[in-house]
Amino acid sequence: AARSDSNLSKTIDVLIGNRKPFTEQTNRDLVRLFILGDQQAAMSEKVRELVHGARNLLAGAIDDQSAQISKLEHVATQASQHDPKSLLAVLLDELLNANTRAAKLEASFSKTCQELDQVKETLARADQSAKTDALTGLANRRGLDERLKASQMRAMESGKPLTILLLDIDHFKRFNDKYGHQVGDQVLRLVASVFKEHLREEDFPARYGGEEMFAILEDTSLGVGKTTAERIRCKIAERKMHKRSTGEDLGLITASIGLAEFRAGETLGEMVERADRALYQAKRTGRNRTVTELELDADIAAA
Ligand code: GH3
Ligand code: MG
Ligand code: MG
Repeated sequence: AARSDSNLSKTIDVLIGNRKPFTEQTNRDLVRLFILGDQQAAMSEKVRELVHGARNLLAGAIDDQSAQISKLEHVATQASQHDPKSLLAVLLDELLNANTRAAKLEASFSKTCQELDQVKETLARADQSAKTDALTGLANRRGLDERLKASQMRAMESGKPLTILLLDIDHFKRFNDKYGHQVGDQVLRLVASVFKEHLREEDFPARYGGEEMFAILEDTSLGVGKTTAERIRCKIAERKMHKRSTGEDLGLITASIGLAEFRAGETLGEMVERADRALYQAKRTGRNRTVTELELDADIAAA
């Protein structure tokens, strides 16, 4: 938006003119259309330039070699007629030239390598940002899916338990309606940070959807997962939240949590479905509570 891209600026002006809110989706679309798109194009152009440059360097080196060989051939044909001292001087001179050229070539290649490292870093950063939720800084759905597959593989290989935790903020819509979307966003960020703060370093938190968070707890049984979930639930409910602009008390924020444990051989969808049912039961039985798949009522388990 620094007016470096006139199309981006124009689009933003139109959105402002039409009083469209800059929702998370809108911002994401803008980034994808105007920033990531540009960056990817710029990166592929950069790689093309570097490869082209390296090819020119090699072609130059081959030309140099050819020139050197013909000089040496010339010296060889003259060998019988000239004083060996002057021939040696020519040879030495040629060797020194070759040495200087090799050093220049080495320097150019090393610069190319550095530039390629930068390209690699930029691509890694772009990959990371494509897997991160812009509002909360947690992994997004894409990052979560990737990690969940890897966790499932590890659980099957090691035979260690794997538990997933699904959290949904209670009555968030009411909250948004009462205080506005921006305050809603502020609360989402706060809940996300409490969520992350009370997980272990090796757990994997993600934003699953609008006001839903997800955590992958590797090497964790359902029972231990429930203790973690209860800790997070209590910390969120304890947290005093105030509207940043006015200091107004935002009242109690609570969340409901559902948990399921991976069963070897099942699909990820089946496991998530059980966590979802547990979450649904937590909502139905009063919210601000944690339910595991082992506590499901018969009707919800069978639905
Ligand atoms: P429940 O206790 O049953 O979960 O009720 P709820 O109101 O939390 O659930 P519901 O699914 O009806 O509403 C979720 C709301 O979350 C709707 C939507 O406006 C809001 N929401 C989703 N994503 C965002 C976001 O990025 N920012 C803000 N501020 N609100 C969001
Ligand atoms: Mg929801
Ligand atoms: Mg909700």
